[in-house]
Amino acid sequence: AAKRGRQGHEVWAPDGTPASRDRLETLEQLRGALDGEQLDNHYQPKLDLRTGTVVGLEALVRWNHPARGLLYPDVFLPLAEQAGLMRRLALRVLERALRDLQGWRAQGHDLSVAVNLSVSNLQDVALPEQVEMLLDAFAVPAGALVLEITEDVLMADAARSQQVMAGLRRLSVRLSVDDYGTGYSSLSYLRALPVDELKLDRSFVAHLTTDDRAAAIVRSTLQLSRDLGMSMVVEGVEDAASLAALRAWGCDIAQGYHISRPMPAERVLGWLDSRPV
Ligand code: C2E
Ligand code: CA
Ligand code: CA
Ligand code: CA
Repeated sequence: AAKRGRQGHEVWAPDGTPASRDRLETLEQLRGALDGEQLDNHYQPKLDLRTGTVVGLEALVRWNHPARGLLYPDVFLPLAEQAGLMRRLALRVLERALRDLQGWRAQGHDLSVAVNLSVSNLQDVALPEQVEMLLDAFAVPAGALVLEITEDVLMADAARSQQVMAGLRRLSVRLSVDDYGTGYSSLSYLRALPVDELKLDRSFVAHLTTDDRAAAIVRSTLQLSRDLGMSMVVEGVEDAASLAALRAWGCDIAQGYHISRPMPAERVLGWLDSRPV
């Protein structure tokens, strides 16, 4: 059990690392939130630039904290990761996402949903089976689920994460490389791994219209993804000029504040019906 420090402020977690009282309190609350209704998915649309249609939505986890208000993942994901809660969190986000997707599809919207996975999720050999059970439970076709993984997932334990990815591929869910271009081994794993989508990190997109080098990276990644038979998603599109440039270059899919900020599930159908872009 945790020990109270001399001043009464510092406490020690069971593994011996010092932790603030705040942190342990937040951790207890997070455990509670994983069972209750405080964790929520917000959704950000992915727009097909050629057809102008919304092809899917990305689930982004939020914590409606009773005292601290709406908390973003940067605040609690590191804590969840350290406390070994990422499996529960992923299954929870996934379950909510598939339930919401089932509802939107029932309203006639041919959409996919994307869920982010963490490093530890990709080390979890039970994951494919759990994904399969949830797809069955909500009668969602596997091809309508996109799983977004970052490059560092592939660095952690390549053999195990490749096993988990292979298991997911057997289900026919789609795999996407998130924050593409910020990791180490970008090119070597593209040769070996069965991914369907590259999601170019938003740092390249931010300077698209003012920086020729950023623009060159966007265009050549687009070409690379085409040659590899993958689709490319450009995230972090914040203005009309960037969107116009991307469209002119033949970019497939875009996401960003200019198209829509992430929104609660209840707002998605309304947004789809009265889209400004
Ligand atoms: P990400 O997967 O790269 O998600 C994109 C992040 O950028 C989101 O932040 C989104 O709100 C934000 N964003 C979207 N469009 C724009 C834009 O035009 N400009 C700017 N500046 N930002 C934009 P969010 O929701 O705070 O999520 C942060 C990160 O937390 C995500 O980055 C993802 O790595 C992680 N995350 C979110 N939900 C989950 C989850 O359910 N599971 C796991 N494992 N990770 C998650
Ligand atoms: Ca993502
Ligand atoms: Ca990203
Ligand atoms: Ca990110």
